[in-house]
Amino acid sequence: MADFAMDLPEGPRAILERLEAAGHAAYVVGGCVRDALLGLAPKDYDVCTAARPEEVKRAFADCRTLDTGLTHGTVTVLLAGTPFEVTTFRLDGDYADHRHPDAVAFVEEVERDLARRDFTVNAMAYSPRRGLRDPFGGRADLKAGCIRCVGEPERRFAEDALRILRALRFAATYAFRVEAGTARAARDLCASLRFVARERLTAEFSKLLCGRAAGEAVRAFPQVLREVVPAPLCAEGLDETPPLLPLRLAQALHRAPDPDAALAALRLPKADAKVARELLRHYDDPRPETPAQARALLREIGPERAMELARLRAWEAGELEAALRRGDAYSLKHLAVGGAELKRAGLAEGPALGRRLQALLDGVIDGNIENTAPALLAAARAMKEEET
Ligand code: ATP
Ligand code: MG
Repeated sequence: MADFAMDLPEGPRAILERLEAAGHAAYVVGGCVRDALLGLAPKDYDVCTAARPEEVKRAFADCRTLDTGLTHGTVTVLLAGTPFEVTTFRLDGDYADHRHPDAVAFVEEVERDLARRDFTVNAMAYSPRRGLRDPFGGRADLKAGCIRCVGEPERRFAEDALRILRALRFAATYAFRVEAGTARAARDLCASLRFVARERLTAEFSKLLCGRAAGEAVRAFPQVLREVVPAPLCAEGLDETPPLLPLRLAQALHRAPDPDAALAALRLPKADAKVARELLRHYDDPRPETPAQARALLREIGPERAMELARLRAWEAGELEAALRRGDAYSLKHLAVGGAELKRAGLAEGPALGRRLQALLDGVIDGNIENTAPALLAAARAMKEEET
């Protein structure tokens, strides 16, 4: 296999060099190696090393370090303000509650650290001086587009059920398939997902849903996802929906009998849940085809939501955009007169004031009243006369 040289940025390069200079083997590991091999820009660089946490801190005595997870061997090193997680090579102990290793043991060899990792594509380490360490064929699986457990899938999923959902997440993100044995174990053991903390499930599920091949994961693993979301998910149109969480949620749940309950069960960030709920409420709204319809939708859900709805439903959004570009009035605050003017002109007061303003806005939105003070006052006068 052709050799691989990873183009490491200054920060991680300096960390590896510093640890090596102190006599400790050190690598970047996991997601960054996977992404670099895929030709993608890594999101962040995790470092693993033979150095024990005290040794890591000693090697970076001149830098700020945080004891992120000392018992798990993780020290965060701040290098020119950027945090890097440096974790000692370790094994995971026995697993009792399907999620947390009971104990960790530090080890000297990078291969043993790689063996505890979830998938072959995530179990590679790289260092400029030591090259690529890939004891489980991760590079070949990347090439083949395959998510495969390191070791025996049943055992790995029994140790930590979150891995079941992570398998689907990586498959959805990269449009990979899940290797047959890994897929079978995922289906067989998915009931144990209920032992996993909600926020971990929701974090992985959110990434899955925003993947380029989310539709295939939904189609191929409905029973697994049912353990995560208490609603049937819709695969149709998912991959064509912009990869923004609220939009994907709305698309996935638009045929569910009780989408609000499904959203509540996910315990999403409040803002995401709110947007998804609003989009679902308007999912079947007709596309605005006239200026008046565009203004009516803007009045109802506001410009931001309206444009999101347009993206979700792949509307040709010309009317909405034109209304916004023209600066059309669609809210009381856009009206050329307010309550004070109506009151001063003796045209309404008390609760009638609000009703009258809304009626004026109706007229402006429909295009029957011009949004100027004289036109609005005249219209208000006509309304008042009609009432008496
Ligand atoms: P991303 O780019 O989305 O962050 P990642 O591969 O970095 O993907 P993380 O969740 O950040 O994923 O985990 C970092 C690494 O730790 C993984 O690449 C994998 O090697 C290992 N890992 C993470 N979670 C698990 C787990 N539940 N079981 C075993 N190994 C895991
Ligand atoms: Mg990561």
